[in-house]
Amino acid sequence: MRETPVLIVGGGYAGLASALFLAHQGVPCLLADRHTDVSLLGRARGINPRTLEIYRPLGLAESVKDAGRPFADEAGVARCASLVDDWQWIFDEEFPRTLPELTAGEFCLADQSTVEPILVEAARAEGAELWFGTRCESIAPDADGVTAELRDLATGEPRTVRARYVVAADGYRSGIREQLGIARPGLRELRHYVSFVIRADLSRIVTKRALFWIIGDPATGAMGAMASHALRDHWGIAIAYDPATESPADFTDERCLAAARRLIGRDLPVELVSKASWTEAVGIAERFRSGRVLLAGDAAHVWPPAQAMGANSAVQDAHNLAWKLAAVLAGRASDALLDTYEAERRPVALELAELTVRSQAARFGPDPEDDPADPITCILGQRYASAAMIGEGPTPVFGDGVEQVARPGVRAPHLWLDRDGVRIGVHDLFHDAFTLLCGPGGEEWARAARKVDGVRAHLVGAELGDVEHRWAERYGRDAVLVRPDGYVAWAADGEPDAERLADVLRRVLHA
Ligand SMILES: Cc1cc2nc3c(=O)[nH]c(=O)nc-3n(C[C@H](O)[C@H](O)[C@H](O)COP(=O)(O)OP(=O)(O)OC[C@H]3O[C@@H](n4cnc5c(N)ncnc54)[C@H](O)[C@@H]3O)c2cc1C
Repeated sequence: MRETPVLIVGGGYAGLASALFLAHQGVPCLLADRHTDVSLLGRARGINPRTLEIYRPLGLAESVKDAGRPFADEAGVARCASLVDDWQWIFDEEFPRTLPELTAGEFCLADQSTVEPILVEAARAEGAELWFGTRCESIAPDADGVTAELRDLATGEPRTVRARYVVAADGYRSGIREQLGIARPGLRELRHYVSFVIRADLSRIVTKRALFWIIGDPATGAMGAMASHALRDHWGIAIAYDPATESPADFTDERCLAAARRLIGRDLPVELVSKASWTEAVGIAERFRSGRVLLAGDAAHVWPPAQAMGANSAVQDAHNLAWKLAAVLAGRASDALLDTYEAERRPVALELAELTVRSQAARFGPDPEDDPADPITCILGQRYASAAMIGEGPTPVFGDGVEQVARPGVRAPHLWLDRDGVRIGVHDLFHDAFTLLCGPGGEEWARAARKVDGVRAHLVGAELGDVEHRWAERYGRDAVLVRPDGYVAWAADGEPDAERLADVLRRVLHA
């Protein structure tokens, strides 16, 4: 029997990010995915600035942005009866790629088929072990750990794994969630799609590249959506079908090719490259934790693709969970810290579910301007209230805009800093340890922090230049303790005191 501290089931965004973040924090982990390869289907394409902010300190931002190069000149969303008909722009302004007031992260349009291999390589380089072509068939949790029965799909060989914790990142139809009997109250399946990738030379038709085209007549509901793909002359198409009258099996290759020509509006040479079906649904698991099993990504929550919140939230779940698992496994925190994962991420999921349903309906309905979601607040303004901070934490999840004043429960406000002549964002400091940020004159606090195990200290305005002189406005305290996921845990004024800081850390970690 193979033993590992953490078994991750599923190698999509949630699973790969979990493997990467855990291994980066020194936690040996094993990931199993039943697929042998990354899917060619683009699936989610939007990488939001919070996700890129998380990738930056791991040195991945440039390769992810590079993966987005094929989409660099895309902007706007257009509606049309077919691609050769007039395009009605729902919006056509330049995409705001950067938000320098709020983050060093950026928007980027890199599709899943090109980003997942980057995460695979990075996770392996950090020491994670990834088993592709391996299905998890069942799990048996007990008080001390979880025994999982896996199968190597190439050889048929069974493999038993014993883990202290399992991250169930096994997607929308999560077998683990079902086995544990965790319900998704009120789950609604909104639309069913067949998605496929075609190869076609559309250079004479697509003269300006949209983020995507919504094609068909909204009045009849006969709609499809089309988007470019990372590979040259490849295009992704999604067509909705009614499960009461049809199934994915009805979408033969011939039918997909005919549909592609209809959406394009010309009888061109078109080749079918790959095909899959998926369901747009909304539903949030009633629990994100069952003992030693933690649900992440689509296994925990699903909602419509508007704003690409599914893919980004999968990474952000993993980021929230990894440092907690690392602290528990290292003996620095008690198991109770893991309860704060659900306390923090589930309320965010409930809010995003409601917003994305309304946002998706607006996009595909008669009045696309009627979108209720403020994407920037949804992305950078998520706030937590849990016992993994000192104080109550702000509620509700979203306030008015992105809060830029440091207090427990908010994402640490953005600062541009100068580190040895290089401009960095403050979030570049947060990845594998608690960080005490101290303001000008905070040397005593920094000295106190260096006596506390597991805390790093930085002096803003001294060792790190405060490029825009924002410390007073955005932090304005003597010392601010930031968790490894970039969220404020505590803010203090007054006499520097290592004992007090150690006590705060113990309380945050439930040690
Ligand atoms: C075809 C398709 C198209 C999509 N299009 C969009 C889109 O346009 N926009 C958007 O925002 N989102 C889209 N999504 C959703 C988006 O991809 C997800 O929200 C996001 O990737 C969440 O990642 P995840 O890791 O939680 O789940 P997934 O990416 O679904 O990954 C789950 C993984 O678990 C593996 N797995 C499942 N069961 C087992 C098992 N028993 N043993 C081993 N491995 C297992 C699967 O092989 C899979 O790799 C699409 C999803 C699909 C499937």
